This record gives sequence, C-alpha cells and structure tokens, in this order.
Amino acid sequence: MKEKDIRPDKLQRENQRLRQQDARRLLAQRRKFIKVFCPACGGKSSQTIFKKEGFNFVQCCCCETIFINPRPSFSLLADFYGNSSCIKYWNNKIFPISENVRRRQIFAPRATRVVALCKKYSVDNSLLVDVGAGFGTFCEEIKKKKFFKKVLAIEPSVDLAATCRRKGIETIEKTIEKTVLKRASVITSFELIEHLFNPKEFISACAKSLAKKGLFIITTPNVKGFDFSVLGKKADNFGGPNHLNYFHPQSLKILLESCGLEMMEVATPGKLDAELVRKKILSGESDAKESPFLKQILIDRWEKLGGKFQNFLAENNLSSHMWAVARKK
Ligand SMILES: [Zn+2]
Repeated sequence: MKEKDIRPDKLQRENQRLRQQDARRLLAQRRKFIKVFCPACGGKSSQTIFKKEGFNFVQCCCCETIFINPRPSFSLLADFYGNSSCIKYWNNKIFPISENVRRRQIFAPRATRVVALCKKYSVDNSLLVDVGAGFGTFCEEIKKKKFFKKVLAIEPSVDLAATCRRKGIETIEKTIEKTVLKRASVITSFELIEHLFNPKEFISACAKSLAKKGLFIITTPNVKGFDFSVLGKKADNFGGPNHLNYFHPQSLKILLESCGLEMMEVATPGKLDAELVRKKILSGESDAKESPFLKQILIDRWEKLGGKFQNFLAENNLSSHMWAVARKK
C-alpha cells in the first residue's frame, strides 16, 4: 500500500488548505478552549513538548500520552465537525475517488482481521456495531463476510449517515454516548478516539453497550511508533484540532481497563511509517544528515530494505498504527 493511493497528492493539497482554514476558524475561539487532565490515565500533571499551528501539545508526566491541551470544548468541536469544509471535501471528493483502493487495501483486510479476531476469541456473532462508520465501507465489507447476523452503523454526521443508509446499512444517526443499544457482541471503532474531546466517556459508552464477554476492537495512532518518534513535531499525524489524543499501547491499556474492559492484545500492523519518513527526508523537511543510518535504509537501500524494515516495525509493535482488542469483564 502506498500513501498516494489512499490520499492522492493533488487532493491532499486541497485537503491541507481546507484543514488549515477550518483550524483558523476554530483557533479564533481559542479563549473558549478547556484545560483537561490526561485522557488515558487522568493524570493532572503534564508538560508542553511543542506547539504546532496554534495548538499546544503536552505529554502526561505519568503515562506519556501526548494530547492537545487546552483543547476546544465538546460544543466547539461539534460545531467544528458540523461545519468543516475539510470533512465535506472528504465525503464528496476524497472518499468517492479513493474508495475502491481504500476498500481493497484497508477495509477488506480490516474486515478479514475482525472476523479472525472474533473467531480467535469465540465471540457470539449476533450483532456487530461499527461506531463512527463514516463512509460505510467497513460495514459493507463486514456484511460480505456473512459472519454476523446483524451489522449496525453508528454515525452522527448527517451527510455520512445518509451515505451509509444509501448503501443499505442500518444506521443510527447519533453518538454512541446518546444511544441506547441492545447488547452488542462486538463493537468496532476505527481511527476515532484520537479525535474526541473525552475518549473515556466514549469508551465507557461502548463498554456499556457490549454484551458480557463482548469484544471491543479499536484502532488509533501509536505515538511511540516509528514516524511519530523519528519526525516528532514534523510528523503530519501530529495535527490539531483533528487529532487531540495520542495514545500508545500501555496508555491505551490503562484507558480501556478503567472503563471495565480487559485488554486482550495489541498489535501495530501499520504499513506507512517508513514511507512517511522517507517522504520527509526526500522533501528536505527532515534532515537525513542527522540520521545517516536511517538514510541508508530509507533512501540509499530503499528498494531492497524498505519493505523489510516496515515489516520489522509492524511485527514488533513499533509502527504508528495500532490495533487493540479488549473484552468486557
Ligand atoms: Zn497519563
């Protein structure tokens, strides 16, 4: 998988412009931002590690989770997402154009992985709920597997919920925090908690909606992964206000367990770290002279070593893309 396949370059530039425009609109209301405690462990002590595009990034002194603090309030964020030109652009342009590649390279393997995990943990197959279903592609792919008797999407955005329904997916147009669900066998949440004002409230709501021994499958960036660690502030993945919370395997475990879930496993099957860092070196944004060893792998011997190196990262929980599986106690 190549980054340009899922985020085509030309569209990526327009996306970047709209993202900055959205961010400026939000930053104009900065005085309404709220100070929070660590979103993983609740720790009260944190220190600023850098500022980027007007947002202040801090690290928890206790569990090393990185998060934006102070951050837009829940209602500011709701307004931001409701009126974001960037999100409209994704829904109208980027998702439709890149859907087939995304379906093949991201969503179909994702559905296969979810079914394999469900078999591994012998979960009941009556109901899978995908929270933050977005464009509905995962729901379509998991339905094709015919493993679950019922698949339900939860998607609070009006436009995206309409897209899900158009695809024949049963959809609840609310947040999980405001939904009363029949007990779900499995709840999935892909790349969502990093965006939320209050991840603990969200995971608690998911835990409440799960049947006993039900499985919670979640993906989010791993801030201790390769591209975050090497690029630091320059990593594109560090970006407000979209990404507010940056967990790592240990801090995500703390969070899940504080919500009544038992962490069963964590993996980082990411595919893009090496390529992301390579691109930063090639564009001159990251200085290869500072890390000649990485330059050997990512530039000089890329064809031979790039893939192997990425596999090494993925297999050893060193990639920046993380999957966690937890079970309701
Ligand atoms: Zn913490």
